[in-house]
Amino acid sequence: MLAIRAAKLFDGIGPGTVERPVVLVEGGRIAGVVPGGSVPADAVPVDLGETTLLPGFVDTHVHLAFDASDDVVGRLRRASDEELLERMRAAGRAALSAGVTTVRDLGDRGYLALRLREETAKDATAGPTVLASGPPLTTPRGHCWFLGGQAEGVEGIRAAVRERAAHGVDVVKVMVTGGDLTPGSDPCHVQYGHAELLAAVREAHRHGLPVTAHAHSAAGIADAVSAGFDMVEHCFFVTGIAGDGDADDPGVDYDRRILDDMVRLGVVASLTLGSLPGGPPPPPRIARRIPGLVAGLAAMREAGVGVVCGSDSGIFPVKAHGSHPYSVAAMVETGFTPLEALRAATSAAARACGVACRKGCIAPGFDADLVAVAGNPLADITAVHAVTAVFREGVRIPLD
Ligand SMILES: [Zn+2]
Repeated sequence: MLAIRAAKLFDGIGPGTVERPVVLVEGGRIAGVVPGGSVPADAVPVDLGETTLLPGFVDTHVHLAFDASDDVVGRLRRASDEELLERMRAAGRAALSAGVTTVRDLGDRGYLALRLREETAKDATAGPTVLASGPPLTTPRGHCWFLGGQAEGVEGIRAAVRERAAHGVDVVKVMVTGGDLTPGSDPCHVQYGHAELLAAVREAHRHGLPVTAHAHSAAGIADAVSAGFDMVEHCFFVTGIAGDGDADDPGVDYDRRILDDMVRLGVVASLTLGSLPGGPPPPPRIARRIPGLVAGLAAMREAGVGVVCGSDSGIFPVKAHGSHPYSVAAMVETGFTPLEALRAATSAAARACGVACRKGCIAPGFDADLVAVAGNPLADITAVHAVTAVFREGVRIPLD
């Protein structure tokens, strides 16, 4: 049995911290949490000094197959499956070193994330626990079509969902709107009709799978919510960013009626804020949207929409694998409290990903997924960048 000592502990729910905790770990699970506790005689003590212990982060949105280069699409398309899998292994290790002990991969090629899921299930040091959607459903030549998930029409959609269920995915992802990454795709354009979205939701739920929507615009979010999706990725309610350069008033329009529907139906927003510092300044059409985005997130918060924290790691150089702590910090920069951001990255994220019974909390019976950070992130969220120790299922991960 391990007895991990730290200065403070946030259990994933809070609101406060436990002072001078000792976390007992046995067989990969948490056996007990003793405040101000002493170490049992038969335990191996691990003293983490003046750190705060948190549940390992659950990143609700990553793309392990994208390598965060200047040309993620080209590099993915040129890579063989084996090359891609090797990059995904490295991406997973980078996330784990940043304290992310569970990732939900929302877009791979050829179900490669499921192979990584198997590998890291056997070896805690190989990477985080992986949950995966396989290739996202998209229209012919639609957003991220090159991942191999093109499907259209009610029957086509149902068959695509069945294929994913047969592969054993953890979640179904549908590209409800276009996206920035794909040339010619418009993030405001809704790719699917209502009958197709409804078919995706029904077929996924029939197989006991949650279903999440990639949706940028208010129209796409509204369509996803009314079709019964469990979650919306990004969920930034953007307007006027047509890919053809016809950028009439790029903005943000958080529709209060849609937010109220999300609350009423329990639809969670998987926010993908944040990026590494030191990158190039955002293009003007993005920069002009930021004040509206901050106001919109305040409206979302006020309405009481459930939020979780995803990084979208892999898609751009400033979204490198391992950058997830910047997504947590960005929630605070855009108006959430540190407590809200930390819940969004731990217990709430685990609940939204369907693993709340074993991830996202430091409590007896939960997997011993832990991250120690220097300082107190409830007082100063930037402490999440100072990761000093990571444990996955009780195994200490060597950090560089
Ligand atoms: Zn994404």
